[in-house]
Amino acid sequence: MQVSKRRAVFLDRDGTLIEERGFITREEDIAIIPGVPEALKLLRELGYVIAVVSNQSGVARGLLTEQRVSEINEEVFRRLEEHDARPDMFFYCPHHPEAETDTYRRVCDCRKPAPGMVRMAQILVDLDISDCVSVGDKLSDVVLCQALGGKGILVLTGYGRSEISKASEAGVQPDFVGESLSEAAEWIESHMSKRD
Ligand SMILES: [Mg+2]
Ligand SMILES: [Zn+2]
Repeated sequence: MQVSKRRAVFLDRDGTLIEERGFITREEDIAIIPGVPEALKLLRELGYVIAVVSNQSGVARGLLTEQRVSEINEEVFRRLEEHDARPDMFFYCPHHPEAETDTYRRVCDCRKPAPGMVRMAQILVDLDISDCVSVGDKLSDVVLCQALGGKGILVLTGYGRSEISKASEAGVQPDFVGESLSEAAEWIESHMSKRD
């Protein structure tokens, strides 16, 4: 019996799931963007593994520790869980090419748009990347899956409105531009392949 590969959505966190408020280091700065829990539930119903992928260069900049990144994220996931919309996975990149400390100063393979976090998810789940979608408020989120043969969506929450003006110059063409994750999920429902 052939076991079919699964598919995933790779969702940016800050500016996509929660309000963009710079480097988030305190739980009280977390605010879920309206409609996000419902969008996550729809994506789950459509059979997507939900992976959150976040560039957390605040670690490289000395603004928070990896421990705090995990704690903050657990609070985001806990709040989503209250709506029965807990994502399946969380990956983050703590690096930056100009970090203060040697530990985090590198041109890594996991800082979006580099594909490292998608590759990590692929180690855990057998994914058909052509059926995967990345969604976020930056062009680096759009190209994350596009560069691997999947789709990319820009949302206009967070930095989205300023990013869209850079798209043509950067040679990036989102498969869809949505007001928020809600619209992105609806586009995915109507444009991606149907599965049981
Ligand atoms: Mg973002
Ligand atoms: Zn990295």
